[in-house]
Amino acid sequence: MVLKSLFSKPATYMYPLLTREPMVGSRGSIVNHVDQCSYCTLCQKKCPTDAIVVDREKKTWAIDSMRCITCNACVDVCPKSCLEMLTTYSSSKTAAELSR
Ligand code: SF4
Ligand code: SF4
Repeated sequence: MVLKSLFSKPATYMYPLLTREPMVGSRGSIVNHVDQCSYCTLCQKKCPTDAIVVDREKKTWAIDSMRCITCNACVDVCPKSCLEMLTTYSSSKTAAELSR
């Protein structure tokens, strides 16, 4: 095993210099193409973790990525098909960025 490991390619990637392409169908993070959003609040009602907040009057849509469990329920229920499940994860945030 030791000799084999010495002369074979490493099993890991030299992250962050090299990154692996996400697999097809993997669930990373939600993005809203908000220009198509009707602010119907269906996604907010369907979300099991209360990660989405929609304000109909102010026409705002927000997601707390720390609460999202990438279940895809909001994408399935959206009548405008403006929600998309990206295969990449959302970038890490500082506590100050999260409180904005
Ligand atoms: S379900 Fe779709 S259209 Fe309705 S508020 Fe959510 S993102 Fe917007
Ligand atoms: S993927 Fe699931 S947990 Fe995440 S925002 Fe949509 S409904 Fe909520």
